[in-house]
Amino acid sequence: MKHRLLVVFLFVMSQPILAQNLAQRLHDSYELYQEKSITFRRFKQKDLLPLTDKLKNNAQFQVSEAGKSFEGRSIPLIKYGKGAPPVLLWSQMHGDEATATMALLDIFNFLSASGDGFDEFRKKLAANSTLYFVPMLNPDGAERWQRRTAQEIDMNRDALRLQTPEAQILKGLQQSLKPSFGFNLHDQSPRYSAGNTPNVATISFLATAYDYARSMNTVRERSMQLIVSMNRELQKFIPKQVARYSDEHEPRAFGDNIQKWGTSIVLIESGGYKNDPEKQYIRKLNFIAILTGLEAIANGTYNRENRAEYEKLPQNEKYHFDLLIRNARINQNGKITTVDVAVNRAEINNADATGFTYKSTIEDLGDLSVFYGVEEINAQGALITDAQGKAFLPHLNETATFQLQLSQKTTWDVKNGFAEKK
Ligand SMILES: [Zn+2]
Repeated sequence: MKHRLLVVFLFVMSQPILAQNLAQRLHDSYELYQEKSITFRRFKQKDLLPLTDKLKNNAQFQVSEAGKSFEGRSIPLIKYGKGAPPVLLWSQMHGDEATATMALLDIFNFLSASGDGFDEFRKKLAANSTLYFVPMLNPDGAERWQRRTAQEIDMNRDALRLQTPEAQILKGLQQSLKPSFGFNLHDQSPRYSAGNTPNVATISFLATAYDYARSMNTVRERSMQLIVSMNRELQKFIPKQVARYSDEHEPRAFGDNIQKWGTSIVLIESGGYKNDPEKQYIRKLNFIAILTGLEAIANGTYNRENRAEYEKLPQNEKYHFDLLIRNARINQNGKITTVDVAVNRAEINNADATGFTYKSTIEDLGDLSVFYGVEEINAQGALITDAQGKAFLPHLNETATFQLQLSQKTTWDVKNGFAEKK
């Protein structure tokens, strides 16, 4: 009797855990798998290689070289699993878009683990798919923290002419592996809006169009179905902050061509999230989105999704600034005007592109009531002054350094686009 009670007790206790879906469990245990040696985006190929080399000691993985960059940097290819379908995931074809690369390193740690309650899931992934990862396709660009390759070519406009070794590698992998699914992993501006709303687009998806008419076939439909499935999971963590990238056809881009060549492509763009300049939370969201997407492929459950749900995602729009100051006043020779001030902050690489400083710019002035700020200040009629409290005229394209004074008292100190409340 006592024994049976214990069994019932354990069964009841385990229910909440079993009932939790994969996304929530991945979210809650993420820190176990997060690659701790990578904490910011500007890491280089030399930081990545020891982590991919380490996988050579694990029989679950096959690590090889996909090829070499223009400057001779090795581009690793990591294989996991033995089943069908084949899936190809590549990140950082643009050298300054590293958020998903960090998530792939976390996923390697996740796939290397065992005895943590996820063994069944890993077994299913290995049996029902073969995963091929290229975690840093443009290491020369990453070295300089620039979008383009060492040849100063945007390799995502080189899918047809194939003048960069990096583009040749990607096309070669698609042609030889013939993946059923592809994950094309990028970063976008942190200032895209999810539709015309106050919500920033933290993640945007795209089922790329393979022609100008944006036609539909089963390859593209599968992309949309997979996105619907991944979006449902992401909405639990970032409600209304998932958007859809423009599906305008670009005949020179890889996403568009790989879709045409028969691989269902999911493009993931890591955007912005408040107070996450190094995109560490967005990295975690990539970890969740990619693994749940891979689950939907291994289970075949993406097939049940209605592609119309994809069309319901809000479009990427441009309604956000980094900082929007509303209802400030300026004193122009005694004439008082009410203005909103919009500020963006650009990242300027340091000498070896391992870090950066911000350069802020006043982007717009006037009635900006139709826009939003990732950060917003309601100045409540405060006067814009210089550091000495004298009336100050903000100018377009200049650095945002000034104060906001209410009743001759400084209420906000704005320095190079960063506002501090006084
Ligand atoms: Zn990109």
